[in-house]
Amino acid sequence: VIATWENEAAVAAARQRLLDGGTALDAVEAAARVPEADPENFTVGYGGLPDRDGEVTLDACIMNEKGDAGSVTFLKNIKHPVSVARKIMEETPHVMLSGAGALQFALANGFEKTDLLTPEANARWEEWLVEKEYKPAVNIERHDTIGVLAIDDKGRISGACTTSGMAFKMHGRVGDSPIIGAGLYVDGEIGGACATGLGELVMTTLGSFLIVELMRRGLSPQEACEEGIRRIVERYKDKYDYDEFQVGYIAINKEGEHGAYSVVEGFNYTLYQKEKTSVVEAGNMI
Ligand code: ASP
Repeated sequence: VIATWENEAAVAAARQRLLDGGTALDAVEAAARVPEADPENFTVGYGGLPDRDGEVTLDACIMNEKGDAGSVTFLKNIKHPVSVARKIMEETPHVMLSGAGALQFALANGFEKTDLLTPEANARWEEWLVEKEYKPAVNIERHDTIGVLAIDDKGRISGACTTSGMAFKMHGRVGDSPIIGAGLYVDGEIGGACATGLGELVMTTLGSFLIVELMRRGLSPQEACEEGIRRIVERYKDKYDYDEFQVGYIAINKEGEHGAYSVVEGFNYTLYQKEKTSVVEAGNMI
């Protein structure tokens, strides 16, 4: 199991699911649900920082080794968007539901309506309102979007990605995280990749798909993550300030090898492999 940022509790939940006989898909969903429910995590789910208008809107997706995928964007008032994404994948003919339609689907499928804006997130929003300066913030307390990949004992690979998106984003903004091929991509024959950071840079380079395709051509997960980051740096280095220019990738392949890399310093990831969990600093390009 590998997850973006320091997410030991999430990785422990995935590990437990695998030990209980769950699939890689069960494991990544279990992992994503941990920060989604944590009010102290300001970048995912319940307690996530709101948009400029004070609304918490969530993006998430999930994908299995067969290429089945589910995704929700701009979802309000539901604590576990990753589980809604899984339901969409398993029970509808569609991949992505958005906004009011996603909420309607969630409520019809037994998900409860919850006020996601915690007093602490509201206080941070009110603080932000004083200046109203919109600037994408990266490496927020080192636990932005959680992207998680797992491979189970049958060699099945799955991934999930969940986020409240950039803090104080424009109302209606959707990032890379729920977009299959951008925030997450899995090919059961090759491997999987996940992204965190400034979603606009990942969406326009289709980063996770790119990394999986690079692995298909023989690159290791580490080499593929580095190449994915290099593409972003080459294309966008003159457009963004150093302090907002962050993207981090994690990847695994079918052999169980992993890789991680980011644009600037500050990206780390959590790895559970061979009965050991560790938090590791990823390398960075600039
Ligand atoms: N990638 C997410 C987004 O752009 C944010 C993040 O990872 O912090 O919505």
